Amino acid sequence: MSFLRPKFITSTFSSKKRKRKNSESNSFNIKGLTSELDEKKDNLSKEESTSVDNDEKITWADDHEIFEKDLVSNFGKWKELSDLDRLNVLGSPKEDRARILAAKFSNTVDEIMTELGSKAELDYFDDFELSENPTKIIPLRLIHSFSCLPLKEQTEGRVQLITVWPPTNRMSRWIYAVSGHKPVWSLGSPEKIIRAITENFGIGADSLDDSDLDFEDDDDGQDDLEDQNAAIIRFVNEVVQKAIVDRATDIHFEPHKETLQIRYRIDGQLVPVRVPDNLRSFQDAIISRIKIMAGINISEKRRPQGGRITFTHGQSDLDIRVSTLPTLYGESISLRLLNEKSQPLSMAELGLSSTSESKIGSVLEKPHGIVLVTGPTGSGKSTSLTAFIRKIHKPERRIMTVEDPVEYEVAGINQTQVNAEIGFNFASALREILRQDPDVIMVGEIRDRETADIAIRASLTGHLVLSTLHTNDAPGAITRLIDMEIEPFLIASSVEMVIAQRLVRRLCMECCEPTKMSESDLMASLALLEIDPKEVAHIDSVRDAKGCPNCQNLGYRGRVGIFELMRMSDSIHSLVIKSASAPDIREVALKEGMSTLQGSGWQQIKRGLTTIDEVIRYSDGAIEDETDILNTQERSI
Ligand SMILES: [Zn+2]
Repeated sequence: MSFLRPKFITSTFSSKKRKRKNSESNSFNIKGLTSELDEKKDNLSKEESTSVDNDEKITWADDHEIFEKDLVSNFGKWKELSDLDRLNVLGSPKEDRARILAAKFSNTVDEIMTELGSKAELDYFDDFELSENPTKIIPLRLIHSFSCLPLKEQTEGRVQLITVWPPTNRMSRWIYAVSGHKPVWSLGSPEKIIRAITENFGIGADSLDDSDLDFEDDDDGQDDLEDQNAAIIRFVNEVVQKAIVDRATDIHFEPHKETLQIRYRIDGQLVPVRVPDNLRSFQDAIISRIKIMAGINISEKRRPQGGRITFTHGQSDLDIRVSTLPTLYGESISLRLLNEKSQPLSMAELGLSSTSESKIGSVLEKPHGIVLVTGPTGSGKSTSLTAFIRKIHKPERRIMTVEDPVEYEVAGINQTQVNAEIGFNFASALREILRQDPDVIMVGEIRDRETADIAIRASLTGHLVLSTLHTNDAPGAITRLIDMEIEPFLIASSVEMVIAQRLVRRLCMECCEPTKMSESDLMASLALLEIDPKEVAHIDSVRDAKGCPNCQNLGYRGRVGIFELMRMSDSIHSLVIKSASAPDIREVALKEGMSTLQGSGWQQIKRGLTTIDEVIRYSDGAIEDETDILNTQERSI
């Protein structure tokens, strides 16, 4: 791999200077600050004539540039901070400083930025329009180093810039040096600015900027290699960190002929990640880096391999499961992020309407019987079961579970995990659990006849059993059990309720807007969903997704369930005993008022929780095509 690429800006941005910055930032001290202040004073007078020839004085050592003197006296909050806190703020990246101060003073970031702006005599914009061609105005290197972007509105002879923290004179001099114009600074929301930089230039563009990795002279070769390794490590960390912030459950690195594609799965949907244009040239190094992190043999490239990474993010450790697969243009790598802290939800948080909730609630109060939740992988079945368990959890009930694996820990519940390697499967675990005097048993999944048989017998002998089945709709669960050679009369007398479910994406509340659909379009969609056309009268409550910084411009944030509830009524009971087909059972259930997935979806649309598109997409079984190879485990909502 060669890094002989054209330099980005000028020769002053050599890797040597970058190194100086790194070493200085490690040994931050007050003395350094004072000399820097003096240097600023010196340069103030020369401001007008400042140009690139000031090279020696303008170094990159301003990671910890001092809070401007007058600002310190103006910004009252600064005085309230201890020395240690001040060092902590100045030692953090510029874009994080307002957030740290906000947490310290129990303010919002907006409030801190507004106050900072007024003390520094800079405008603060909550909302702003950015130049469409930022690198035509200032180089990428400065955009990253200063966390700033040119605004859309530019005045003749000046450069209008927005940044995340009051700028220093040094920043102004650099802008002047590269653009030939004096900057006019304003402050903006750090989160929005950083997001805009990532969206424009790709994640990690700073880390992989070629100008960092050039061979300036031969003596420096070894150091440059170290620089490159550091850049790759930084890049991979940035990709994982952004995934965590964006609430992704998976990260995929996919080598193609021309590009290395990176995609996140967020709320069940694949979302391409904007990456630097030169990413392909770092492919091998990136893949090796992930393999090293996961403890995988890096020289083995022909066989699929698996490993684990423990990634430290803030205070918590995140467990990441890594899988590699050789493909045409290199190894494809998938990371599954297992968030240990995923919180179990309540029934209302699942998106159940109050009527559905009370219907399910009444069944859960029974001392025996089976309640089944069905749906494809990733439809949130175990999330629902956990919510049910939490609802019925009382000191006088002994609740035991067997899961694969335990996804949510619930206090006060006895949770067991199957272990295929030692032959401890659902059936054998269930048999052991029955010896432990449980009242309620939750079985992660019924996959085979043996498990089905024990579960049904347990429910007939005075236990409430909750479990899941992999079928598309509620009536399908009955025929699946019959296919497993369970006697129909046993099914009829044990199953109390079957709930089919899907997860649809939840509208982002910050940006959703009234629908632009015409009444006739909505009529057509309602027909597709088999909903009463009269419902078109509710068009005013229908919302469309838009996209904003809060939802990574996806228009959705989080997910909400849609449900099909089937009670075992007398007529369905007799159909089951006769081994009737699923469509026949369905027909009767619908006549008796079973809510369908589509119907439930429409209710969620009317509640302003999701969109017509989402419901159409998920209620026809399309979700099944989207489950990924790795997926052996339910994802949390
Ligand atoms: Zn939004």
